[in-house]
Amino acid sequence: GIKFLAGAFPANKPTLITGSGAMLKLAKLMMNSGVQRPLIIADGFMTQSGKLSALTQLLKDANCQFTVFDEVVPNPTMLEVENSVILAQSIQADGIFVVGGGSAIDIAKVVAATLTNGSKPKKLIGMMRVRNKPLPLFAVPTTSGTGSEVTVAAVISDPESHQKAFFLDPDFVPLAAGLDTDLLASLPPAITAYTGMDALTHAIEAYIARVHFNDAQSDALTAIRLLLEYLPRAFKNGTDLEAREMVALASFMAGYAFSKQGLGYVHAISHQLSAHYNTPHGLANAVVLPRVLRFNKPHCLKQLAEIESAILGKDSVLPEQQLANNFIKRIDQLSDELQIDKSLDSLLEKDFFKIAKQALREANDSYSVPKAMKLKQVIRI
Ligand code: NAD
Repeated sequence: GIKFLAGAFPANKPTLITGSGAMLKLAKLMMNSGVQRPLIIADGFMTQSGKLSALTQLLKDANCQFTVFDEVVPNPTMLEVENSVILAQSIQADGIFVVGGGSAIDIAKVVAATLTNGSKPKKLIGMMRVRNKPLPLFAVPTTSGTGSEVTVAAVISDPESHQKAFFLDPDFVPLAAGLDTDLLASLPPAITAYTGMDALTHAIEAYIARVHFNDAQSDALTAIRLLLEYLPRAFKNGTDLEAREMVALASFMAGYAFSKQGLGYVHAISHQLSAHYNTPHGLANAVVLPRVLRFNKPHCLKQLAEIESAILGKDSVLPEQQLANNFIKRIDQLSDELQIDKSLDSLLEKDFFKIAKQALREANDSYSVPKAMKLKQVIRI
């Protein structure tokens, strides 16, 4: 199995543009950088809502020869990647501009790398398989969760084997990203909640990882604080653009943090739940996160206490144990505020063993996890 959780990549951050109009600013940056025949990969909601037309109009006015691919589906498969590759090759694309959730961005990453590596996309599955620099990639996330606009990863599903394939390489990091509040306002409350919990999980798993890069630790901590403050606001009022921007920024920072620090058991377990029952990735993370943290607590007490102290904004006289407990309680409270249903009705006892085994295959030996888990422990989680 590929260890999505390995982390410790020498990742760079993309050039970042934020705020209202960021998508169009990013398109101008792309044209100024010399891209003449971009493939535009767009989430279906962009075409359906008419929001893509501002972009296509700008490109037309600049005489840019673009083509649009909008057959993006959640949890994309190789089929969408291959169709998009064929289209990009047919127009001799010299750049990729993607606007959509993590699903769209992940397709775009694999397409950008496939075009310059003369290979089938499947050959790029795994770690450090990209030989030649991918086509220049410009990414506008319309969800705030995966951090795909900054990460070294792309995730493509195999619907038959119930497995996700991970593509990991620092060359997958987009050249530039735009966090556009105009596009984030329409994200429905439930998806806002799930994707936000995905970002929170990235930040926490990165912060408690055994590896330690100062810049990634600092981004993870900031992301956690921003999410606790602004995610409930974005959930309650989607048009609160300040909250939308802060959650998007937090997701970006969390993505950077986990690219360098890796992920842990929350992701390893939640990936299996999504693969088996199609549970949305963020929902699965939200359910698993407090349970894994309670298990991990003795092995990352200091970090959990540090997070709580940072949230309180002052040195606390409370013992580490209590600070850590209080932080985990905050996560429970946040889930409640976001009306996350923790029941996981689809989870079947007969699948426990298989899920736990697959989770261990994904997570163990990673130097990111605070403490290796045993099969029985994962089953009990
Ligand atoms: P998504 O891209 O699948 O989108 C979820 C739904 O929201 C879709 O139906 C989409 O049409 C809709 N949508 C998106 N933006 C919208 C908006 N602004 N307004 C209205 N509707 C909107 O969801 P996601 O959580 O961003 O991405 C999930 C995928 O990302 C999974 O395949 C997961 O494995 C992967 N992932 C990748 C990374 C990475 O580093 N590359 C990290 C974590 C997860």
